[in-house]
Amino acid sequence: MTLRIGATLSCDGMDCDQHLSEDTAEAVRESANRYGWVRVLGGDRERDYCGACAEKRARRKRLAEVMPAGTVLLGVFDAARAAGFTVSDDRPEAKVSCCGTPVEIQSWLGDAVAAHCKTCGAAIADVTGPVWSGGGVSFVDPDKINVETEARWVVVVRDEGAVKS
Ligand SMILES: [Zn+2]
Ligand SMILES: [Zn+2]
Repeated sequence: MTLRIGATLSCDGMDCDQHLSEDTAEAVRESANRYGWVRVLGGDRERDYCGACAEKRARRKRLAEVMPAGTVLLGVFDAARAAGFTVSDDRPEAKVSCCGTPVEIQSWLGDAVAAHCKTCGAAIADVTGPVWSGGGVSFVDPDKINVETEARWVVVVRDEGAVKS
């Protein structure tokens, strides 16, 4: 009996449990090609999508297309500067302050999704971040909308004035 180490490829599509299992990595690649799987280099790693998910992704809208007219989408540091924040530099660990104090940063699963100044209320938010309403949380659907962009931050316009703490 020969011990074989199988190879499996799983689809990275949201809520998709499609996978291919073969004896070798080469065989898996072959079936992936046969079944129309697509490999995408995105963000931190390669992602694989089954034929159905690849098709769904190809039909996605750009983030800017689903925003209200006039919405300006910016990279996080450009949004911070547009809100009047002071940004030390453009490194991920940059210090962001406003009114002489560091801004409050809200994060979701380790990623910053919003930031605001407790003094003047200036704020920015990631439009792909969580939206809480009616006791639930919702997100932009990454199967319908292409969220793989740096330009996904907006300056939040508030009418309730400064956030008091
Ligand atoms: Zn899939
Ligand atoms: Zn401020």
